[in-house]
Amino acid sequence: MADDGSLLIFDCGTGARKLGMALASKGAIRAHLLLTHTHGDHIQGLPFFLPAFTPGSQITIYGPTGVDRSLAQAVGGSMDYAYFPVALSSLPARFDFVEVDETDFTVGSVRIHTQFLNHTSPCVGYRATVGSATFVYATDHEMNANPWWRADRPIGLFDPRYLAHQSDQRHAEFLKGADVVVHDTQYAGRDLPAKSGWGHSTVEYAVDVALAARVKTLVLFHHDPNRDDAGIDELIADAEARVAASGLHLRVIAASEGEELILDEGATQPVVELEPAAPILPDRARILVADDDITLVRILETVLHGDGYDVDPAYDGQDALAKANAREYDLILMDIAMPLLDGLAACRELRTMARYKETPFIVLTARTRQDDMTDAFAAGFTDYIRKPFALPQVRARVRSWLARTAAHQV
Ligand SMILES: [Zn+2]
Ligand SMILES: [Zn+2]
Repeated sequence: MADDGSLLIFDCGTGARKLGMALASKGAIRAHLLLTHTHGDHIQGLPFFLPAFTPGSQITIYGPTGVDRSLAQAVGGSMDYAYFPVALSSLPARFDFVEVDETDFTVGSVRIHTQFLNHTSPCVGYRATVGSATFVYATDHEMNANPWWRADRPIGLFDPRYLAHQSDQRHAEFLKGADVVVHDTQYAGRDLPAKSGWGHSTVEYAVDVALAARVKTLVLFHHDPNRDDAGIDELIADAEARVAASGLHLRVIAASEGEELILDEGATQPVVELEPAAPILPDRARILVADDDITLVRILETVLHGDGYDVDPAYDGQDALAKANAREYDLILMDIAMPLLDGLAACRELRTMARYKETPFIVLTARTRQDDMTDAFAAGFTDYIRKPFALPQVRARVRSWLARTAAHQV
């Protein structure tokens, strides 16, 4: 809650029940519910959130558009008759839905900036600033590369420029200088590679990015259901040891029910009221998938076609160039090691064409050296995904890049 009374609620999991009881004592409320995405653990508290049953309450729900349905449908669907006796539309409170992707807007005196995270569905993080206080809510998110540091990083240097993946650099920028960051730390390094591609961070990555971003307090969050309190204490100890070894300052705590953090807003400047920009996606986006692995191309074609895109296949670098010349694609997924012309050369060639200056190019590769990633970004690729990858994550990445690019072209 901001000093001006603006009430922001981040996600609506099991904690919503107790929060709802505490708020209900005040009668009808005006609240802003900021959803990262609509996976069950982030919305399952809504039917048990008491203010939803209080006539006169007004709740604005923000969140990303679903791949195959609207935000309102995705949230409302969790209260279908099969799951809950009262439909969302029959609740006494008034609900308004606002779909967001990457945008800026205000709620009262609070300025909010959103950015896509790396998850198994389109998912946004929220950066809220009021006066001199900044709070970032960044879950569910998996590091874009593991290891996340470049091979040539000087040991002990926590500089975002040495993050190997451009999207991790972008993530560090999103957290930059925040007073409090609530970050996904579902896993520890020892849980990988088994949980790689599940859309969640390790505590080691969260600490490193928070250090690089000069965050003041890191709140470990999205605890693994298999981890008990002693396990969480172990994670905190691991994180504190990592901070101590860095020689930098970062307070680490773990989120727990009822925990209260109070930030000083300082002197607040007047805020210019801003509405979030409506998300835009190209109408039936055209995607080129270039890989010499025919089975993989077929799988991607089927899945991306199912998400509503128009997909063309290419099986070598020259084929990809010829197809890209003949049509204009909104996004290109490309392997590096391909016959006739490799992906790096094809990417460099395409970047010289006016129509492909800004187009998102995503690498799909089995190469594992950190230098390969550095080379790919230098050649002009926008994103880098290692094989074997999780299909839900590729679908989310494709959707995020299409939304970002469309928004920038307006
Ligand atoms: Zn999730
Ligand atoms: Zn989750």
